[in-house]
Amino acid sequence: MDRRIFTHLDKYNLDISFDVPLCDYTSFKIGGPADVLIVPHDEDALKAALSFAKENELPMFVLGGGTNVLISDEGVRGVVISTEGLSELSLISDDTIFAGAGVRLSRIAAFARDNSLSGMEFAGGIPGTLGGAVYMNAGAYGGEMKDVVVRTRYMTPDGATGETEGAQHGFSYRRSAFSGTQLIITGSYLKLARGNYDDISALMKDMNRRRTEKQPLSYPSAGSTFKRPEGDFAGRLIEASGLKGASVGGAQVSVKHAGFVINTGGATARDVYLLIAHVQSEVKRLHGVSLEPEVRLIGDFSYINKEARDKSGE
Ligand SMILES: Cc1cc2nc3c(=O)[nH]c(=O)nc-3n(C[C@H](O)[C@H](O)[C@H](O)COP(=O)(O)OP(=O)(O)OC[C@H]3O[C@@H](n4cnc5c(N)ncnc54)[C@H](O)[C@@H]3O)c2cc1C
Repeated sequence: MDRRIFTHLDKYNLDISFDVPLCDYTSFKIGGPADVLIVPHDEDALKAALSFAKENELPMFVLGGGTNVLISDEGVRGVVISTEGLSELSLISDDTIFAGAGVRLSRIAAFARDNSLSGMEFAGGIPGTLGGAVYMNAGAYGGEMKDVVVRTRYMTPDGATGETEGAQHGFSYRRSAFSGTQLIITGSYLKLARGNYDDISALMKDMNRRRTEKQPLSYPSAGSTFKRPEGDFAGRLIEASGLKGASVGGAQVSVKHAGFVINTGGATARDVYLLIAHVQSEVKRLHGVSLEPEVRLIGDFSYINKEARDKSGE
């Protein structure tokens, strides 16, 4: 790719880098290079980056906190847009907060607590950004983004802006109207309830304690690897299939919590991919349940299936 074409973007408030190892941008600490990584610091810069990608027919992928993705060892072609520069966080009224797409949920939860606003406690320990959390309706301990998000600003790949309100968000279990679309969430309005600082603080501490007790937080991971199957728990089924501690290369089904695949050191995306496939086939064989990954696979993984076909001589 001719890097000189990118000088066109110099006048905008954004950072551009090339051949960026995405393992530095994911909680799994896994992922090959992005051809180009652009970090816009405002909506004009985002619009310019999107128009640029379109004009030059470059594929585009939006990366939030990288805490729910498995990025291929081959990396991502085209332009990766990181939302970390969309970092506005402000109190709009007595009970409403605006958060930019790139703001971490932990920061929003702390900001809400500091303003004695209740409703974001559940999200204090979820490591992703507002954009990623709205995209997949993140939730924990009985709370979900759907309970607090009232309005969301977005941009289309053509750079047009729009807003979604209330039921238009289409929230359901780990899904929203944004899932699977090319729309880029730029920020959301969160409606909370007036509360008491000490109560909010105590609830957040309790939830964080429960998280630390149950989850393998000292290892890189992308949180729960699989969605919760109807009427059961992925972790329970995986444990009951005797898969705790099962591993491929540096990827392991956590011994502390079978619902998490962890990177014990040097795991590749290939290791994680193969371990996920193994867990899926064993749980299906033993319990008849198809586990669907919650973690989103980004980039090309077809080389792994090709390897398997070559090996079996097909
Ligand atoms: C230790 C750990 C614990 C976790 N616990 C929980 C939990 O309790 N509950 C839970 O729900 N999740 C949990 N997660 C998963 C993850 O933090 C959430 O899914 C989070 O919402 C992902 O946000 P992100 O910004 O990291 O998104 P990313 O991983 O960067 O992206 C995920 C998807 O969202 C899209 N996306 C991101 N930002 C935008 C945007 N601005 N506009 C459009 N699309 C966008 C991406 O393109 C991608 O498809 C956990 C993860 C870890 C590592």
